[in-house]
Amino acid sequence: MQDFQYQNGQLFCEGVALSDIAQQVGTPFFAYSHRALTRQIRAYKEAFSEVPHLIAFAVKANANIAVLKLFGNESGGADIVSGGELYRALAAGIDPQKLVFAGVGKTKEEMTAALQAGILMFNIESSQELIALDEAAKTLGVQAPVALRVNPNVNPETHPYISTGLKKSKFGIDIEKAVSEYQLAARLSHIEVVGIHSHIGSQLTQVKPFVDALQLISDMIDRLRAQNLDIRHWDIGGGLGITYDSENPPLPKEMADAILPLLKKSGCNIILEPGRSLAGNAGVLVTRVIYTKEGEAKSFVVVDAGMNDLIRPSLYQAYHAIRPIVEHSRPEKVVDVVGPICESGDFLAQERALPEMKSGELLAVMSAGAYAFTMSSNYNARPRPAEILVHDTSFDIIRARETMDDLLRGERIPEILNTPGH
Ligand SMILES: *Cc1c(COP(=O)(O)O)cnc(C)c1O
Repeated sequence: MQDFQYQNGQLFCEGVALSDIAQQVGTPFFAYSHRALTRQIRAYKEAFSEVPHLIAFAVKANANIAVLKLFGNESGGADIVSGGELYRALAAGIDPQKLVFAGVGKTKEEMTAALQAGILMFNIESSQELIALDEAAKTLGVQAPVALRVNPNVNPETHPYISTGLKKSKFGIDIEKAVSEYQLAARLSHIEVVGIHSHIGSQLTQVKPFVDALQLISDMIDRLRAQNLDIRHWDIGGGLGITYDSENPPLPKEMADAILPLLKKSGCNIILEPGRSLAGNAGVLVTRVIYTKEGEAKSFVVVDAGMNDLIRPSLYQAYHAIRPIVEHSRPEKVVDVVGPICESGDFLAQERALPEMKSGELLAVMSAGAYAFTMSSNYNARPRPAEILVHDTSFDIIRARETMDDLLRGERIPEILNTPGH
């Protein structure tokens, strides 16, 4: 996380001290580095410059419209998985012709909205979905551009919750059934087959599963073309991992080098859907220590951010590095960093050696740019944190901290409850 470094004992994001942001906006907050986000998308563009390509950022990783706009300015598009993400991508000014739409449960309403917007391609995951899309397109009198999400049954060797390309997965169409599904697609009057898609999982730390999967897809493209299907967009998915702890994932360039021969041979427009690898290490969650507490068997650092703000440690036993915002040389102590939520599963780190912390001091939870704010909730009636975009020596609030009124938005007490006894 090269854009988060200590300068004179203070943790900075680019040229801004995180403690200055905390003073102005309070805690907890997410801070994203403009420079880090830009560097990451440029690394992908450079790595794939030899083929026509589109970097469609996976919106579910970080859906803030300022982040989407930043990638849009770098000629990026978006990989969306809901009508809400479509709405966000359009609100950020992303060209609809740079949008691809995945997900196993797209409703007809969502399909209709995407058809009206004129998106590049639907990544279809079942035959019922294909038929529903054909009907939605017929109603509007348009052709729906379609890729089938093919499940190559390759083990990505990552956490089971983020493996998506195995036979038992709810995602995609089994590779053995793909040809017959494509034949169905070709028969439907308002479907136009334009591409193929696969996405095998997330936080991949090796190149080999990509290569294996894409080799299988490459063979499939040949078979489909032999049946006169015009496969012109090849969406190779996302999934490249990042360093949270000591992982050593491939760089976009290393991934590209391993697969470019296959991609070039296809003559396709290549679509990539990176999420985590674009945003994960471009953000941190800053939180304040409320209390320290000595339990019978453990020591706790109780902070003002919890599992509702960052659920990855609780949900996937994920590791996030934690750093004090002010460097100090106090002795280290093994602690659990826990939030204020009334759940034992509410922790940001367990059994972690940290320099001894005191009430009121600040900590940065690293690698919190992806699957962090987007997975947050209001559990325990906690307003969600602010989001900040740092650019060089200044910063902008790109999402205001939620207020108490935000918590009640849309709720009402019906009249019957105002007339007790009736
Ligand atoms: C989640 C997802 C991605 C992004 O995955 P990362 O691991 O964040 O790169 C891409 N494509 C699809 C279809 C997804 O569901």
